[in-house]
Amino acid sequence: MTDASWHAEVYGKWLGSGTRRRKTPGARHGRLILEEQQHRCAYCGIEFGDYTFRRGRPIQLRITWDHVIPYVYSEDSSDSNFVAACQVCNAIKNARMFESVNDAAAVIQRERWSRGYRDWQETA
Ligand SMILES: [Zn+2]
Repeated sequence: MTDASWHAEVYGKWLGSGTRRRKTPGARHGRLILEEQQHRCAYCGIEFGDYTFRRGRPIQLRITWDHVIPYVYSEDSSDSNFVAACQVCNAIKNARMFESVNDAAAVIQRERWSRGYRDWQETA
């Protein structure tokens, strides 16, 4: 266990409520991340502004910023710890930690499916 994770476990709640926590990368770096990801979610690969469907209902995907290593473990709000993810993937990922963005994407895509999210509109 690293110092940081021990610290987060012991003081996580207190640190989590601190005011230094950043929820977004800087504006300039945010644009770079989006360009790198070709304006697609890092996990589901759907373009932001496009739609996903759940029980036939469209959900427009918004950009949310995800800490690759959850903040509670890493306390890392540096620009390199952010990826752009849609609100659906971000909610599914929650504060879980994965070895890599690819690992996270594989797990999240399976869970999207089992929770009824589809990339097309199903006819009932
Ligand atoms: Zn997504």
